[in-house]
Amino acid sequence: MRAVVIREHGGPEKLVLGEVPDPVAGPGEVLVEVRAASLNHLDTWVRRGIPGVRYPLPLIPGCDGAGVVAALGAGVTSPEVGARVALQPGLSCGRCAACLAGDDNLCRSYGILGENRNGTQARYVAVPAANVLPIPERLSFEEAAAFPLVFLTAWHMAVARARVRPGDTVLVHAGASGVGSAALQIARLLGARVFTTVGSPDKVARVRELGADEVILYRDVSFADEIRRLTGKRGVDVVLDHVGADTWDGDIRSLTAGGRLVVCGATSGHEPRTNLRLLFFKNLSLLGSTMGSKAELLQVASLIQAGRLRPVVDRVLPLDEVARGHELLESRAVAGKIVLRVDASPR
Ligand SMILES: [Zn+2]
Repeated sequence: MRAVVIREHGGPEKLVLGEVPDPVAGPGEVLVEVRAASLNHLDTWVRRGIPGVRYPLPLIPGCDGAGVVAALGAGVTSPEVGARVALQPGLSCGRCAACLAGDDNLCRSYGILGENRNGTQARYVAVPAANVLPIPERLSFEEAAAFPLVFLTAWHMAVARARVRPGDTVLVHAGASGVGSAALQIARLLGARVFTTVGSPDKVARVRELGADEVILYRDVSFADEIRRLTGKRGVDVVLDHVGADTWDGDIRSLTAGGRLVVCGATSGHEPRTNLRLLFFKNLSLLGSTMGSKAELLQVASLIQAGRLRPVVDRVLPLDEVARGHELLESRAVAGKIVLRVDASPR
């Protein structure tokens, strides 16, 4: 089958489209014929490699995907062959205390499709049966491939970690990004007043449409000063951050007393300085967040089915333009998700 394969780490040129053997659904697994797969920032880390992290190369990347069930492995009776499914990106043992409590993202053997085993950027992918979910009826394959990882991440940050409540004020960084566009919709759904940042004026209308009450152009002003001004010097109750070092100090200054800062990524750097006086004097909570549980993704899917949340697709590219997709993502020239279309090629 055709697949994107990373054989060694490096730049976008290391994303090679090649022919590899078709995967087989092992016991307890489902084989999915992929129709669409989306890109995440995680793909760029997997491609570049992180010092000290071992990836199982050669590796097919891709955490998110949607398609149709092609075959069932031994012991699996549903969904039916031909059913439209999206993929759960999280992998876990299914037997430990964390998994059985529904906190599978706290499993000691937790991994992610496309990082720890072959992912979705291929014609076929084999996954554990727990990793397929029905596609909300209103969604195309492209939209279904665009929501799992970013909505799961944003939901876990806002609901499980920050516990956003009606009336809270919430700052979401980069509201036009994948995680940002999910987080601002979720914060709005939870009844918060939502502030967001964008890098360019052409993204303002887009994030307002998704539910942002106030939009800050972070290249023109200090976002922390703007938060102070827009909140009458009070600050916000919650900051949802996936940027990292560049925004950390401003996040802490933006929070009001008792505020909660949740961070799920460090694209701009992972060792920022922290003003401990502000941390203790304002009674702040600093919270980490990675992915979320399979149950949380099912909750998100039902809200998408009900039309209360929606995936945001920036553009759809053919699979062989995966390298261009990485370049667009790394230049932040996107508003929403980049989705790769996987055509059924003749066999
Ligand atoms: Zn486990």
